[in-house]
Amino acid sequence: KKFAREVLALETLTGIKSESEKFAGANDTYGVEAMMQDGKSLQFGTSHNLGQNFAKVFNIQFTNKDGELEYPWQTSWGVSTRMMGAVIMSHSDDNGLVLPPKVAPIKVVIIPIYSDDNKDEVLEYSREVYNDIKEVTEDIEFDDRDFVSAGYKFNEWEKKGVPIRIEIGPRDLENNQCVIVRRDTLEKNKLPVSNVSEYVQNLLDEIQKNILKRSEELLISNTYSVDSYEEFKDIISTNRGFVHAHWCGNPDCEEGIKVDTKATTRCQTEEGKDNTGPCIYCGEHGEEWVFGISY
Ligand SMILES: [Zn+2]
Repeated sequence: KKFAREVLALETLTGIKSESEKFAGANDTYGVEAMMQDGKSLQFGTSHNLGQNFAKVFNIQFTNKDGELEYPWQTSWGVSTRMMGAVIMSHSDDNGLVLPPKVAPIKVVIIPIYSDDNKDEVLEYSREVYNDIKEVTEDIEFDDRDFVSAGYKFNEWEKKGVPIRIEIGPRDLENNQCVIVRRDTLEKNKLPVSNVSEYVQNLLDEIQKNILKRSEELLISNTYSVDSYEEFKDIISTNRGFVHAHWCGNPDCEEGIKVDTKATTRCQTEEGKDNTGPCIYCGEHGEEWVFGISY
């Protein structure tokens, strides 16, 4: 959860999985769930407390400090390409990828815009800006390809999710400035080149924070709490989202809800256990679980 927040800029829900959703053979399974832009939830990481179950099956033993043979307790931790999927699907927009600066392989791209009669000056000036920024980040690209147009380059780097694009043309050279475009908001700003490296460093932090804030807002605006099955069905069939509801723990109710609505239990958060109420499906005593439509 910490890694998702601080590096991937993803707000998540974490908790324990239900009996039917947990890894077969594990004592307990814990999941990390992220909210996607279409209201579906994506489980992108799980960890399992395997107990001594697999050690016994595979007859794995160790000698403890008293010289006796014992079965070890095992855990299993997994994140996979699903995690990358979560980053792509929750941050991106219609123009392509939006990568959090902390994981973007290229954080800044410089695009010199020139014609035949000012090519050398513009390239030289752009190189200086490049060298300045290189002091604050190594992950910078200088795109001086002369066989594609500037517009083509803008689109291409936008699609690849590069957090900051810097455009430098002959007029910027005259005015000692450059144009900075941030990928998360597509905002464009003119900036004096004298403080460009400091500006870029701050802007990378700001973009990282802004993407996380959007992820938090996405999760909050897609989180619901319901007391009745009617309300549950209504929300799941329209907005999807994370729906907090009471469930008695009986797999028949869980299955019934799934058949009716396609929603499954995503997890039970730590607070969910203490929040009790009647099961939305059968009315028996239940605890709060989070339901959602999963990928
Ligand atoms: Zn029930």
